[in-house]
Amino acid sequence: MTPVVDIQHVTFTYGEKVALDDVSLTVEEGDFLGLIGPNGSGKTTLLHVMLGLMAPDRGSVELFGQPVEKFDQGERIGYVSQQATNRGGSMPVTVRECVRMGRFAHAGRGRLSAEDREIAEDALQRVNISDLADQRINQLSGGQRQRAYIARALASEADLLALDEPTVGVDAESRDAFYQLLDELNDAGITIVLIEHDIGVVTDRANRIACINRKLYHHGDTESFVESDALSEAYGTTGTVVHHHH
Ligand code: ADP
Repeated sequence: MTPVVDIQHVTFTYGEKVALDDVSLTVEEGDFLGLIGPNGSGKTTLLHVMLGLMAPDRGSVELFGQPVEKFDQGERIGYVSQQATNRGGSMPVTVRECVRMGRFAHAGRGRLSAEDREIAEDALQRVNISDLADQRINQLSGGQRQRAYIARALASEADLLALDEPTVGVDAESRDAFYQLLDELNDAGITIVLIEHDIGVVTDRANRIACINRKLYHHGDTESFVESDALSEAYGTTGTVVHHHH
């Protein structure tokens, strides 16, 4: 089976600063990959390289079997950036409009069809924000806004959801509900890559873990990660471990 993401020997530098050093990993269809590492360990950089938002200095990246430089099926990827919770709220559109944007790639040049609208409404319902459809994105709470962006990805029929610390600033209850939603989407076959600083959340939810600190310390299933020394090795010299039990 072709991996959803295939990263081989990727090195990325900001000027002199090496952010990623010879990182190789794959994300298989249906995976829920938790991407963890201390602050400044290269998680966001890796996600950006993975999605083709930044080109690596060395190494190769393939998405759905296509070199990322040539990848032209952007609608297959839903990306919720860190800014989506913090700054993205200034978008002067309603939730429904935002979610309908997920259909633009499918609608071609013309207007959205009745079916496109229906798919957008279904997506709103699936993440349980139909009642917020007429509100502006910037009036929503962080957790509600995340749901709106997920709904947009669902409307575009994304196969891969990439999320960068999606619950920063979201209250605990909404956070649990949000992770419940991610589980459901993963059960429905959507591949998930999640950056999350709370290691407890990641080991509870993800079936695979990539633990990085410039280099890759672990890439494999969650059980073998929990039993390994990767966590203390990767976190050993920098940062603090945030551990959280449910
Ligand atoms: P994480 O997401 O794990 O916190 P990042 O990928 O954001 O880590 O950053 C990895 C390293 O690269 C950090 O040391 C950070 O300071 C550095 N870095 C990130 N973005 C830039 C940038 N635009 N210019 C220079 N250095 C950067």
